Order: sequence, then structure tokens, then C-alpha cells
Amino acid sequence: MRVLIIGAGTGGLCLAHGLKKAGVDVAVFERDRTPRSMLIGYRVGISPDGSKALHSCLPPDVFAEFVRTTARPPRRINMRTEKYEELLVGDIATGLDDSRSEKSVSRIAMRTALLGGLDDVVRFDRTFTHFARNDDGTVTAFFDDGTSETGDVLVGADGAQSKVRKQYLPHAKVRDSGITSVAGKLPLTDETVKLLPPLADGGITLLFGPRGEFVIIHVMRFDDADVEDDYIMWGYTASHDKFPDMKGMSQAELKQVVLTMTPDVHPDLRQLFALAVPETVFQIKVRTSERLEPWEPSNVTMIGDSVHLMTPGRGIGANTALRDAELLCRKLTEAHHGKDVVTAISEYEKEMVAYAFDAVQASLKMMDGTSLIHKPVIGRVVSAFSRTLLRVTNAVPVLKRKMLAEDVATRDHVNSAHEVVHAG
Ligand SMILES: Cc1cc2nc3c(=O)[nH]c(=O)nc-3n(C[C@H](O)[C@H](O)[C@H](O)COP(=O)(O)OP(=O)(O)OC[C@H]3O[C@@H](n4cnc5c(N)ncnc54)[C@H](O)[C@@H]3O)c2cc1C
Repeated sequence: MRVLIIGAGTGGLCLAHGLKKAGVDVAVFERDRTPRSMLIGYRVGISPDGSKALHSCLPPDVFAEFVRTTARPPRRINMRTEKYEELLVGDIATGLDDSRSEKSVSRIAMRTALLGGLDDVVRFDRTFTHFARNDDGTVTAFFDDGTSETGDVLVGADGAQSKVRKQYLPHAKVRDSGITSVAGKLPLTDETVKLLPPLADGGITLLFGPRGEFVIIHVMRFDDADVEDDYIMWGYTASHDKFPDMKGMSQAELKQVVLTMTPDVHPDLRQLFALAVPETVFQIKVRTSERLEPWEPSNVTMIGDSVHLMTPGRGIGANTALRDAELLCRKLTEAHHGKDVVTAISEYEKEMVAYAFDAVQASLKMMDGTSLIHKPVIGRVVSAFSRTLLRVTNAVPVLKRKMLAEDVATRDHVNSAHEVVHAG
């Protein structure tokens, strides 16, 4: 059985490793010219689900290299107001082994690690355009350089703008979430660490403003000095209508937009915005997909953002792509050992659609520009109410445990029921 994967991203590379390990003939086609081109270096939180999938698909040396390139994992969730006042602080379970722990990694470092051992499998500078089915049951992928490749299975792992989805499931809907984020990075130094909110170093920090806007802060400390320099990453998020027209703006201008929009936040937070290195600043118009109705399975399928794009609201897009990769790998391995391929893919899709669109929905809840919290007048009331709710939850251990456990459930589908989460 020959499997063609379109896209050497998070999901595609994990699947490729798993199939190669299982002895399946696999080839990955990636439009980027080189391994490091075109990648925005944002931080990705790998959940227990993501860790488990990587551990199961990657050969041990590649998994070890991936773990080595991760930053120190977050130990707490730290929710505050934009003026750094505490709303809710809770511990994240730590001390789990590498095969199921939370991890923080830069997207570039993750791709570099995942490319290890795949030199004979990944082909760069191959932009997929379309596919065609052949009379003998095989499928051919065509590329914009005029070349083509034929295999028994085609997997679209080509991300948010998936060409595989556009051809295979033209009815699939991807839409604007109404939310814009501007993010940036600055070096973590003895000086910049002092600008962080309390407890931010070692945690994931969310600062909630009075009009539905929020800031996320990640502190990335690497134990291995050769991986990357330590850095702070922030992302400012609000509904589109709160931003000016940013078309054609330079990265320095995007940073200035955030400063102009936040005159009343804690002065140290403004410093963190101001100190972002302009070349690292980027904006995203956040999009989401809509739940798919079942479709007739075939030997073409998809994983990750290509089939279930979600907002980064819960930090589970990459983790869901990894979960898909592990599940599809298992099913295709069964097919490699004799199971009917279309049956195997159909089983994968049935399971994937159920959990992935729950994840899409949960992620939208956190970043939905149409929700009341973003409306002009009522938004302030809803914001004030949610902050009060967080303060109350913080003060009542049983409520805090419940809230943290709900988050764990989106990140660890196998063990969430048994997870011990300590209210901080
Ligand atoms: C700011 C931000 C923060 C995030 N944080 C988190 C987080 O903390 N945790 C988390 O789980 N998720 C996070 N995500 C989401 C996560 O990055 C994605 O969900 C994940 O990378 C999707 O993986 P994928 O394999 O489906 O697609 P991708 O990783 O996007 O890979 C798709 C690949 O396909 C290639 N490609 C596209 N078109 C073609 C073509 N025509 N031909 C050939 N190749 C093609 C692309 O170049 C790319 O390499 C975040 C996203 C953003 C934007």
C-alpha cells in the first residue's frame, strides 16, 4: 500500500512517521521550498493527547529530540485583569512522563524535530493542485510543477487553506470567527521578566480586559541552550470591529495598533507590547469550520486543519491534528495488514468527525466575535460578570477544580477522568 500525504505540517509529519514505522510506503509533498521557510514561530502547547500521539507514531530517537526542543512546561493557569489583578490561578498537573505530559514548543522547533529521519519521505517544493481517481482504484496527485504521483490512499494534511478539502468536500464551510489577534515576541531577560504579571513565569497567563478583549502571555524557557533563546510571547485578541483597518500595515505598525488600543492596561504590559521585536509581530484573522455532515468514504481522506479548522481559543488545533494522525495511522496499518482500505478510512472518519467538531465548538466558544461579550454596551456588563465569576470560582475550591477538570477533558481524552488536578 502506498500512501500520499499532502502537507508536511504537524499532522502530516506525525502520520508519516507512524506509517513508516509500521512498514507502509509513504511519501509527503510539501509546498514550502525548504524546511524552515514560511513558518511563523508561534508557541504551540502540546497536550497529553498530542504527546500520546507523538509518542506512539515517532521512533524513539525522534521523539526524544522533539522533547529536547520543548521549553519548560507550564505549571499553572494564571488569569488576571488587564491591570494584573488576580482573577483565577490554578495548577496544571505536572510530573507526568513525557509520553503524556503538557509541553510548550515553538512551531519551527517542532517541525524541525519532526522532520528527523524523514529525508527519504518528505519532498519539499511540491505544491499540490488537484487529484484524480484511476480505474484501477488508485489515486493520482498533481503538482503545480507539472509532476504527479500515484498511490493507493491520498491524505490531505494541507492545513487551513486545504486544496484537498476544496476538491473532495466542496460543501465544507470555513468562516470568519469575527476575531482578530496580533501577536509578538521579545527576548526573556532579567529586565523583561520584571514586566510580567505575577506568576506568569512558569504559567500560561490570560489577561481579560473590560470589553471582551484578552491578552495571552507565554514565557518560553529552554533548558538546552542550543535550541532557542528564551522568549516571551504575547497575543492581543479582540473582535474585528475594535481594530482599525490593518491592510498593508508593516509589522511595526501592527505593534503600534496594539499600543494605541490599550492606553489603560498595566504600564508593564504596555512595555511588553512596546518591546516586541517588530520582525516577530503578526496578525491573524481567526477562522473556524462548521460541523460536517457524513460523506461517502473513499481512499481519499483528511487530517487536521484541512478538515476541522478551529480557533486557537483552547490551544487544541495541533493536538487534534496529532490525534487524527495517530488514529488514521492505526487504521491504515490495519489496512496494510489486510483490512479493506475504505472500511479502515470510514472508521477513522466516523470517530474523527465526532471528537474534532466538539473541539471546533469548544474552541469557538473562547473566540467568537459574535458573542455578547464583544458587543458595544452589553459587552462591558458581560465582561464584568465573567470576571466576577472567575473571582468566585477562584475562591471556591470545588468550583475551581471543576473548571480546571473541564479544561483537562479537552486536552486528555484518555485519562481526563482519572486526572488529579490540584486547585492552586
Ligand atoms: C497563533 C496560533 C497559536 C496556536 N496555538 C496552538 C496551541 O497552543 N496548541 C494547539 O494544539 N494548536 C495551536 N494552534 C493551531 C495549530 O497550529 C494548527 O491547528 C496545526 O498546526 C494544524 O496542523 P495541520 O497539520 O493540520 O496543518 P499545518 O501544520 O498548518 O500544516 C499544513 C502544511 O501543508 C502545507 N500545504 C498547504 N497547502 C499545500 C499544497 N497545496 N501543497 C503542498 N503542501 C501544502 C503547508 O505549507 C503546511 O506545511 C495555534 C494556531 C495559531 C495560529
